[in-house]
Order: sequence, then C-alpha cells, then structure tokens
Amino acid sequence: MREKILDMEQYAKEHNVPIIEKDSIAFIMKFIKANDVKEILELGSAIGYSAILMASVKDDIKLTTIERDETRYMECLKNVKNCGMEDKINVVYQDALEVNLSGVSYDLIFIDAAKGQYTKFFEKYKYFLKPGGVIISDNLKFHGHVGNRGNIASRNLKQLVGKIENYIDFLKNNDEFETKFYDVGDGLSVSIRKDEI
Ligand code: SAH
Ligand code: MG
Repeated sequence: MREKILDMEQYAKEHNVPIIEKDSIAFIMKFIKANDVKEILELGSAIGYSAILMASVKDDIKLTTIERDETRYMECLKNVKNCGMEDKINVVYQDALEVNLSGVSYDLIFIDAAKGQYTKFFEKYKYFLKPGGVIISDNLKFHGHVGNRGNIASRNLKQLVGKIENYIDFLKNNDEFETKFYDVGDGLSVSIRKDEI
C-alpha cells in the first residue's frame, strides 16, 4: 500500500495532478478516525490519491468519488483496483454539478473539484449530509494567492482567486453552517450545521 501511494505521488508530480498536501490529508484522516466517519462523498477524484487514503482509515468506510476528466477517472479506477479497494470506493465519471443523488447521505463531503464552483457544490450537496455530518473544503489558500489578489498578473487566476475569496465569505456569513478554517496544507475548512454543534 505504502509503495502504491508513493507511486501515485510520483505520477501526480510527473503529470501535474494537484493532489492534496500531506498535512491536509493527515488532518482529514485524523478527523475521520476521531469522528467515526463511515460514508464519504468526494468531489474531484483526480487519480484517487485522497480517496484511497481516506478509505484506508477504517474497514467500515464507504466512499463515492466523482471525476469529470476521463484520463484521471481511468487512472483513478486503476489505482483503486491496484489497492484492492473496489468494494470500498465507487468512482463516478461525471460532472459533479450534474450528478443526481437520491436516497443517500454522508458523514463527510469533501469538496476538492473546480475551485471556482465551490459555492455551487456546497449549495447542491449540503442536502446530502447525515445529521452531524460535515463538509470539508480544500485549497482555500490557493497556493498563497487568496488574500493577495493585487499581486496577480493573470486575469483568469485573479478571477479564480476572487471566487475562492467569495466562497470564504459565503462560509463566514452562512446562517445555516458554522465553519472553522484551518491553516493546514493549502488551507482547509470544516463546516457543520449550526443546530448540530
Ligand atoms: N482530491 C484529489 C485531487 C483533486 S484535483 C486528491 O487530493 O488526490 C481536482 C479534480 O477535480 C480534477 O481532477 C478535476 O478534473 C476535477 N473536477 C473539477 N471540476 C469538476 C466537476 N465539476 N465535477 C467533477 N470533477 C471535477
Ligand atoms: Mg485539493
């Protein structure tokens, strides 16, 4: 398993796949253990790196992960099989904004897909949380760009960072959810429904 994880890290490096930072996945794995998380939904599988690590925390975890890029989806399937996790991890090849879920709910929803669409993901998927469930979002610092938009030359990047800043404001001002922000890795947030704190 350890070797397979290292291979995935190597692949990610060579193919410029933005997998989660080590501190962040360690934080999430600890959270899963401490809170007895069992059902997980991940938006943005890439090659399955974070999915496989989250699913590896305990035997009773079931994880669904959604990826819209075909090459990454195929790579993810391959890695899930290699790690013998076909029974724990269900990989869905679709745009997360188009997926139709019904009759399912999760202890943890991990938002790690297109950074410009986090608010949409949050608003769509909040209905699929179990009581006491949380939404964790990754890359809220976006490599140090968040909060430093003035220094960015590229217009596209500036716009994207603006959207992440809007998402952070959306979380801060959300009446329904209480969000804590963590300066771990590339920046994480943990959101829980207010009446459940
Ligand atoms: N969670 C992974 C990294 C994901 S990178 C890890 O840490 O190992 C973000 C991924 O989200 C990319 O592979 C991208 O193709 C995918 N993505 C972006 N927008 C998406 C969407 N709307 N639906 C599904 N996947 C999306
Ligand atoms: Mg990420």
